[in-house]
Amino acid sequence: MRAFSLSAALLFSAASLPAQADFASCVAGLRSAAISAGVSGSTFDRVMRGVEPDMKVIELMQNQPEFRTPIWDYLATLVDDQKVSEGRALLSKHASLLGRIEQAYGVDRHTVVAVWGVESDYGQIASGRFLPQSLSTVACFGPRRRDFFRGELISTLKIIERGDLAAEKLRGSWAGAFGHTQFIPSTYLRLAVDFDGDGKRDLVDSIPDALASTANYLKRSGWITGASWGYEVKLPAGYSGPSGRTNKSSIDSWASRGITRLDGGAVSGLPAAGLLLPAGRNGPAFLVTKNFDAAYAYNAAESYALAISVLSDRLRGRPGVRAAWPTDDRGLSRAERKTLQERLVARGYDVGKPDGAIGPLTRAAIKDVEAKLGLPQTGRPGGKVFDALR
Ligand code: CA
Repeated sequence: MRAFSLSAALLFSAASLPAQADFASCVAGLRSAAISAGVSGSTFDRVMRGVEPDMKVIELMQNQPEFRTPIWDYLATLVDDQKVSEGRALLSKHASLLGRIEQAYGVDRHTVVAVWGVESDYGQIASGRFLPQSLSTVACFGPRRRDFFRGELISTLKIIERGDLAAEKLRGSWAGAFGHTQFIPSTYLRLAVDFDGDGKRDLVDSIPDALASTANYLKRSGWITGASWGYEVKLPAGYSGPSGRTNKSSIDSWASRGITRLDGGAVSGLPAAGLLLPAGRNGPAFLVTKNFDAAYAYNAAESYALAISVLSDRLRGRPGVRAAWPTDDRGLSRAERKTLQERLVARGYDVGKPDGAIGPLTRAAIKDVEAKLGLPQTGRPGGKVFDALR
């Protein structure tokens, strides 16, 4: 996602007060497009009745953080002890279901549960916004990708028309991701499956449907049954050879370049792999296979695929990332973020209710603390600020 820019700010202010007539005329155009795509006019009218534009959605679309989240922050939050222990409990609770999913799709249970945990915190995310409202808003007033969101609105209407889900269940992110798996509507139409056999593909209330759909997604993204996503490796001193997820070579070729297991043992037992250096040559290194790419396909980000992969390993009882990230200011778990907010409140800052979610109030408070400590003002919830407020 792009950073907030001046042109986006101007577009946003122009779009923040749309004339009601503009929306009505845009919705009439959406109705024609939906009917051309095979949605009945009566379904469109029933779902869209009373829908008004939600300009908060345009704000959310614009309000991307102005700095990139460091990979160590991203992993510290997404793969924390709480996520591991909850995931282990769910592996046990759903063991028989996960066994049937492994049989049907060839994707292992730890990866399926890891995707569930990263996508929706195992289904614990709040229900969110009404998709027909947010998608019609961005299709009419979004500063970019209006055609894409019009397509997602039409897919939403198809899901309702087929009877997979009632309209009121279709609530999610501003961009239309919803349910346990956070599929967008077009992905839902393409890849969701009915695994509990009730004839409906329900990724909101059916855990069997949701987890099997995740496995189906990974299978259709090139998953190799029985192979690993990869593992952390050690580079020889001064390594200057090839790297990159998509730059795949045989495991023997990596061995011949002096890349070893962390313990110095020979690398082996992987299909063709790429050398992933998510924080450059001075940070942790990983050999990653096509199964890593299947996780990448879910969200088109290497940091995301690494979170899935590392969480799946921790669910297997293996360690997480072992080499140090190239920083002296570590990332915080969700529990630590909440504690940080409580420490800020104790110092008199207003950060809202401490919940571990870092918003503008918390960032502003952190910047203020950083200034008082003589640190660069980043607004980032890291280990240094956390320790300083102890
Ligand atoms: Ca079902």
